[in-house]
Amino acid sequence: MDILRGFKDILPQEIKRWQKLEETARETLKLFGYKEMRTPLLEKTSLFSRGVGEATDIVEKEMYTFLDKGGESVTLRPEGTAGVVRAYINNHLENSPFRKFYYIGPMFRYERPQKGRLRQFHQIGVEAFGIQDSALDAEIVYIDKIMLDKLGLTDLRIEINNIGCPDCRPKYLKSLKSYFEKYKEKLCDDCKKRLNRNPLRILDCKNKTCKSIASNAPKIHEFVCDGCKTHYEAVKKNLIKIGIKFEENPHLVRGLDYYTKFVFEIITDKLGAQGTVSAGGRYDNLVEQLGGKPTPGIGFASGCERLIELMNYNEEQDIDYYFACMEDYTTCLKLAKELTDKSNKSVYVEYESRSLKSMMKKANKMNANFAVIYGENERKNGIVIVKDMKKSTQEEIKIEKFLENEVKRWQ
Ligand SMILES: [Zn+2]
Ligand SMILES: [Zn+2]
Repeated sequence: MDILRGFKDILPQEIKRWQKLEETARETLKLFGYKEMRTPLLEKTSLFSRGVGEATDIVEKEMYTFLDKGGESVTLRPEGTAGVVRAYINNHLENSPFRKFYYIGPMFRYERPQKGRLRQFHQIGVEAFGIQDSALDAEIVYIDKIMLDKLGLTDLRIEINNIGCPDCRPKYLKSLKSYFEKYKEKLCDDCKKRLNRNPLRILDCKNKTCKSIASNAPKIHEFVCDGCKTHYEAVKKNLIKIGIKFEENPHLVRGLDYYTKFVFEIITDKLGAQGTVSAGGRYDNLVEQLGGKPTPGIGFASGCERLIELMNYNEEQDIDYYFACMEDYTTCLKLAKELTDKSNKSVYVEYESRSLKSMMKKANKMNANFAVIYGENERKNGIVIVKDMKKSTQEEIKIEKFLENEVKRWQ
């Protein structure tokens, strides 16, 4: 039986990295009072068509949408923000003292599988509600950056842009459209389609010709309204004040319709063209668009698969004690049980007797710190042999002294 295309098992060997990633993210986000939220993987399709935007690639061709047995159109979440916004509205979280949230979990997009891109992928995301002030924009960029720093990512760049709002963006889109119309024949097939639906997306097309045409396209800064301009300038000032370096990229547009005023990406040059590790921005109209009271919002999301690839991770010990039992498994189990009771050390008890040599090999493969050897001789003499696997030294210990000895070792 094959696994579905674009899906992947995460096996114990790799899971340690995932746990480390999640731990680091949780610790960082906790520092600034962000609370975890878990929303369903399955939602009504209309949440995403209204929330993410009808004219986006995600909604048009990448969603896992189907009718459930009751005939309702449902969709596996392709991104995390829409669900969190829905939960914010449904649960009246505007009354909660905490209005800053994060989530960690799988998302689903029916994309062409390619290296580093899965149909079930994972994101860590953050959403904060109710604050209009540009200081929050700076906080969001900051916590994103320190999370990546704590994970050991290096060579990161932060790019920012003003994306306008529903008041001023249409004017810009109109001007973009008439600019690109002139080059219509030269644009790639995707961009020909984008021209009518979403000319903004032509700006971040990776095609060489499209890129060079886009380089002379009108810039959004010439079109934004006063509100957008003031906010964006204030974000820049705040970033400078808290010591965050950034570059402005007028071609930075996000693939989602809901962004307003300020967007950013954190990029590494280590992955080639697909270097974005985190991206986000403000979405001041989304809550209202999904049926809530007008409420500003801002957030970011980071792709876990990329973070896993880039994070600096030292292999930790898999197991503290490997019990190499050659007979009398019960005695080994009892020693192991007492050890875990009295210390927080992990144990692995071997219940498949084999040669000492092959058991030591296994202990090495498991990255064990110590091996506890118990065979016929040891049983007769009432001892165990404790072998330090890293130093390759060993000592004989009376069985009744084992626990005391080992607990002391770690104090
Ligand atoms: Zn505006
Ligand atoms: Zn193109």
